[in-house]
Amino acid sequence: MKLTDIFNIAEKTFSFEFFPPRDQIAALDLGINIGHLLRLRPAFVSVTYGAGGSTQSRTFELVDYLKNKVGLNTVAHYTCVGSDRKKTLEDLQALRRMGLQNFMLLRGDPKAGSEQGYVPLKDGFANATELIAFARKHIKNCCIGGGAYPEVHPESLNAETDLQHLKMKVDAGCDFLITQFFFDNRRYFDFVARARKEGILCRIIPGVIPLTKYDQLERFVKLSRAAVPPAFLDQLESNKDNPDAIYNIGMDFAIRQCRDLLMLGAPGIHFYTLNKSRATVEIYQTLMVR
Ligand SMILES: Cc1cc2nc3c(=O)[nH]c(=O)nc-3n(C[C@H](O)[C@H](O)[C@H](O)COP(=O)(O)OP(=O)(O)OC[C@H]3O[C@@H](n4cnc5c(N)ncnc54)[C@H](O)[C@@H]3O)c2cc1C
Repeated sequence: MKLTDIFNIAEKTFSFEFFPPRDQIAALDLGINIGHLLRLRPAFVSVTYGAGGSTQSRTFELVDYLKNKVGLNTVAHYTCVGSDRKKTLEDLQALRRMGLQNFMLLRGDPKAGSEQGYVPLKDGFANATELIAFARKHIKNCCIGGGAYPEVHPESLNAETDLQHLKMKVDAGCDFLITQFFFDNRRYFDFVARARKEGILCRIIPGVIPLTKYDQLERFVKLSRAAVPPAFLDQLESNKDNPDAIYNIGMDFAIRQCRDLLMLGAPGIHFYTLNKSRATVEIYQTLMVR
């Protein structure tokens, strides 16, 4: 089912993002966690595509498994790093032959350590706008999502140009957007308000990542440049040597963040699960009973 059809009937959706497991043990672990998460009946799940196309075959295998064996509405992420138009068309057609109708199309980042930044291949794509326009033209009957950055994409000059680029991306054929994760809900709601003024009318689903370990703090902030509310940061810093306390602080924060997002009108939540289930299940169950 296309996500646009789901959006027509569901005011709010809950969805989970997975990455392809590295090895057999990680695959077993993911299988168990997917089992737990399935009970929450997600509207859809999505599978990431490793930087530089490094996980292509594992992404496609997991997508095929979730869509065709487990029977979930599945979104395949795809990036154009390392892909020219010919390869992109072959890859998207291969996913389409699996029955996939939902794609999250991203420019992607070069592999870690690469000094040049993003450089498109000859006959490749300069940005996600070009990739999305290409997919819209060549892949029939599909639903396309794109990434959005409430705290501005790191390569953008400023918030205004980033938003103008986002408008071009949506006009090129995006049906929905999922945001980079953030910790301050005001950033999301301000961003949505600015996007609406810019004429971006599609669903903008907030991405939420539960922070449950102290060492995730630096990693997450580095990845997203997300502002961390000072009171939350203080709590984390003053309990950094106590993993149980960090878990509880992170969960308490994530539950409040999700509850406020939903109460203030967000159209659901996309959980960055990190292939785990405990935190997402606990947040979800708490939200449902309150
Ligand atoms: C929800 C979500 C899921 C993600 N999943 C993955 C994944 O599976 N695999 C992965 O490798 N990465 C993933 N990423 C990370 C993403 O690949 C990086 O953030 C990347 O740097 C930008 O990708 P994009 O599609 O947002 O790029 P773009 O939309 O192309 O934006 C990149 C830069 O180009 C600019 N730009 C965009 N369009 C134009 C235009 N028409 N003209 C001029 N400039 C333009 C933007 O302002 C921005 O500065 C994900 C990000 C998000 C938010």
